[in-house]
Parts: sequence; C-alpha cells; structure tokens
Amino acid sequence: MSIHLPKWDIGPRYKLLRKIGKGTYGSVFEGKDMNTNERVAIKNIKSLFEYEVEAKHMLREICIMRTLNHPNIVKIKDVVIPKSSEDYNNVYIVMEYAEADLKKLTKSPTYLDHSQVRFLMYQAICGCRYMHLANVLHRDIKPANILINSDCSLKICDFGLSRSYRRLNQNFEEGASNLTRDDDDIRSSNKLQRILTGHVVTRWYRAPEVILMEKEYGKEMDIWSLGCVFAEMLGMIRENIPHHIERIPLFPGKSCFPLSPDFNTSSTKAGYPVAENDQLNMIFQIVGTLPAYDFVTDPKALKYLQAYPEIKPKSLSEIYPAITTNELDLLNRMMVFNPRERITLDQAINHPYFFPVRDPNLEINPVTQADFEFDSDTEMDMVSLKELFRKEISSFNP
Ligand code: ATP
Repeated sequence: MSIHLPKWDIGPRYKLLRKIGKGTYGSVFEGKDMNTNERVAIKNIKSLFEYEVEAKHMLREICIMRTLNHPNIVKIKDVVIPKSSEDYNNVYIVMEYAEADLKKLTKSPTYLDHSQVRFLMYQAICGCRYMHLANVLHRDIKPANILINSDCSLKICDFGLSRSYRRLNQNFEEGASNLTRDDDDIRSSNKLQRILTGHVVTRWYRAPEVILMEKEYGKEMDIWSLGCVFAEMLGMIRENIPHHIERIPLFPGKSCFPLSPDFNTSSTKAGYPVAENDQLNMIFQIVGTLPAYDFVTDPKALKYLQAYPEIKPKSLSEIYPAITTNELDLLNRMMVFNPRERITLDQAINHPYFFPVRDPNLEINPVTQADFEFDSDTEMDMVSLKELFRKEISSFNP
C-alpha cells in the first residue's frame, strides 16, 4: 500500500516516512536522517512571517528548544529552509523523534503499571523543573505535548506558547488575559482566528489562577497541568479504569468562566452564566470549594467564586480505586486550587513516591537561562524579526 506523502522541499538529507501529528502551525512527520540513519520528527511551519505574534512564537520555540538541554525535553536538531523560501515563509524544524504522545496512548488499548507511571511522572517533573530553572514557563502542558517511547523515556515538546519567565515578570500587563482567550477547540479555530484572539492554553489542563485571569500567574500553572497529566496516567492503570474507551481527563470542562461561559444555560452566579460542565465547576466537584480565595485579586472573579455554594472535595481514590497512598498524596498536593499552596517541583521530586527512581542525571540545573530580546511586548518589525531568525538558524545552516 502506498502512503501519500507531501512533497516537502527538505533536500536529500531527510526522507519523509509517515504523518505523526498535526498542530496549529502545520503537520509533523516522522522522517529519517540519511546522514546518520536516525529517525527524526519534522515539523513544517508555513507563512511564518505573516504576523508578528506568530513569528515571535516560532522564534521563541526554536530559541527555547536550543537553550534547554535536558534528557526529558525534546531536542531540536536542524532547521531546514527550502531554496524556494528565502523569505522564510516555509520552514522545517527537525527534532529528535519519539514513538508516541500521551494523548494517543490514552486513546489506545495501552495500559501502564504503577512503576511505569512513577517513572514517567518523575521524568516529566524533572524536565519541567529544569525548564523552570531556566526561566521558562511551558504554559501548555497536556498529554499531546508529552512524548513517550516504548523504553518509558519521556520528553516534553511544543514550546510555542512558552515564555521566558523573566520577561513575563517584566510584562505582567500581558498577564493571563492574553493567554486564556478561549475558543471551543484549538484544532477547529483557523490560524487567523487564533492570532486575532491570542493563544489558548488547553482548557482541561488550565490552572485555576489562569482561568480566573490572575495577572501574576507563574510556575504553579505548569504544576497544575502536570497534575492533570498525572491523573490521566493513573487512568491508564487497568485496575483504575478497566477499559481504555472509558478514560477521560480529570476535568473535562466544556465551557470556561469568564472567557467562554455557556450562554445557553439558565443558571447564573454573580450575574454570570454557569453551566454544570463549566471548567471551574468541574474542578470544584473534585477539589471542593474553599472558605476563602485570598490569592484572587479581581473583585468580579472573587464575587463569582463566593457565589458558589460549599462543595465538599471528592477523594481521588473514588475515581482511581487502585491508587496507592503515595500516588494519592502527590496528586492531592498537585491539585491544590490555591497556587500559593500547591506543591513545588523540588518538593515533588523529594516526595517519597519518587525514592525508588531518583536519578542525579535528571535532576540537573541549566547552564544558561532563557532571556530573549524579542520576548517582550515591544513591537518588532518583520525585518528585525527575520534578521533574528536568520542569526538563530545560522548555526544549523553555516
Ligand atoms: P499545538 O496546536 O498543540 O500548539 P503545534 O502546532 O505546536 O501544536 P506540536 O504540539 O509540536 O505542534 O506537535 C503536534 C503533534 O505532533 C504532537 O502532539 C505529537 O503527536 C507530534 N509530535 C511533535 N513533535 C514530535 C516529536 N519530536 N516526536 C514525535 N511526535 C511528535
């Protein structure tokens, strides 16, 4: 059977093998590096310099991948510019290849055991800790961005939404408002729509402080998303959920206060429409409401939260009946509504759950930190952005 492969202008060095993914910016293919015989993943990005925001996203993704050097973070190997694309409107990013992503695995009849979940989570936490120490927030941790190999090695990918933490702190005005413009489904929104509305952190993995549009969100938001990923890994243990088709995310919200509330619902809280399956409501049904929300600074958000009747927390062992004491304790500490009380990644690494798998090679600190000149909110013209891009990729294309 012949597989339809696109005619990508990637030169003789790389051979396309099969499509492995689709993102907002284009497709991802498995390929082969004919020089080294290694398998690679190749991501095509089109119309890179049509919009400033998009050009910065891509520049950021490349710069961040080059800065981070950790076994649990996917490495960039090459950037291929076709001869016909001197204006860089069609580029190919070549990365190290991983066999699957966690989203694909959760949808397949693949099961994990407790020790595999532990090892995978340990690697995800080590990769994320390293990234945070390098001043990078990922901002879109979700199963589709967690790559997994059959030897149980794990790599975090997709840094398109990431930001250098230092620059973000200097520009809090950008805050969550630019981050959480919601739409129903990332994949269904066309590119222009995404650019106009800003980027989207996938709703199911979105931390409460991001949902509530707190300006000073930080590393804790990635820890919440990692907790949601941990829950989905636990759902892959057969004793927790017997059939793979019954797996669902921990908080599968269908709308999200305040950016995309469900206007079809008749119930309201503090004047806002609220649906049963609103993201915040789904979170409360599991972690319970709080007596006070002292981390919330927006008076409207506070009024909305206070309009919720008391909801008692549900034990996660009701959802995952085979969860062990250590798994439950760590998961509970990650799924803490108040970001100030959420476990830190250093505390998580030191949790007794990880004692059997600790590896000093993964608990390393970065040598360089991410701090990119273009990563500020000052507008940059396309000529300067193209020049930065040219400099950044020149080491790949001497
Ligand atoms: P998004 O719409 O989530 O922002 P994107 O356009 O940035 O996506 P990626 O998330 O980088 O694209 O990749 C999309 C998918 O391609 C991933 O979910 C994964 O399935 C696959 N993929 C990406 N990189 C690799 C890789 N290095 N090895 C294997 N598969 C990969």
